[in-house]
Amino acid sequence: MHKAKKKFGQNFLVDQNIIADIVSSIRPAANDNMVEIGPGLGALTRPLLKVLNHLHVVEIDRDIIARLENDYPQDKANTKLIIHAGDALKFDFATLAKPLRIVGNLPYNISSPLLFHFTEYTERITDMHFMLQNEVVERMVASHSTKAYGRLSVMLQYRFFMEKLLDVPPESFRPAPKVDSAIVRMIPLPAEQILVRNETLFAAIVATAFGQRRKTLRNTLRSYLQESEFTTLGIDSQLRAENLSVADFVRVANYCDERPPSSVA
Ligand code: SAM
Repeated sequence: MHKAKKKFGQNFLVDQNIIADIVSSIRPAANDNMVEIGPGLGALTRPLLKVLNHLHVVEIDRDIIARLENDYPQDKANTKLIIHAGDALKFDFATLAKPLRIVGNLPYNISSPLLFHFTEYTERITDMHFMLQNEVVERMVASHSTKAYGRLSVMLQYRFFMEKLLDVPPESFRPAPKVDSAIVRMIPLPAEQILVRNETLFAAIVATAFGQRRKTLRNTLRSYLQESEFTTLGIDSQLRAENLSVADFVRVANYCDERPPSSVA
């Protein structure tokens, strides 16, 4: 018996119907280069291994690693399950063969930093399928001018096509989490569709605008745009960050990036 550890966000999937739905939405194929984050007690790992020739897993919990090593000895004869013991936040995904598929029922306490960590490897990744807190999935896929739309929506939508696939109720896990969950698919956009020229500046503008989301853009983006520049861009400075589409944020950032240094406010 394994006692679930809260500090590692351990809520293990037990509903076999949900597990089958998740695996069929991932659509694994024998030759995929796939990595699972947090295999835990193997709820997704086992059905994935039925199809895949090999699977990498990244797991932080020493007790779980010991169980996995017992079930899948890490000797030369084993090429089926390759265990990487450690923190997925520090794992270098460039060490795995590409094109890479990433899957996982993620520990909810570190889901946002994990998502940002994966964005560093976008050009190596075919797709990603994650179980996350439903509220986070809603924020990821939110359209502008809705309550759920925010920094996470913009910072992921400019790089990924994303869709919510499945709702997963708390009863599907042991122990049951206090929140609803959902499965999201993330597919990196082709390089030619990523129009941001200066990602650091883009990230800074998005963070500044949403830092005080109730304030008008005129106030929040004061250090980036003068009133006349809002007019040039065709953006109403009385709007708030949540009213700007991802494409609007891209236009603002590219405008600030291209403008001659002398005109910076
Ligand atoms: N995949 C299993 C399932 O669906 O039942 C377990 C999912 S559980 C929500 C999250 C898993 O991620 C646990 O096995 C936990 O130990 C592992 N984990 C937590 N933090 C991690 C980290 N920073 N790096 C790698 N694995 C982590």
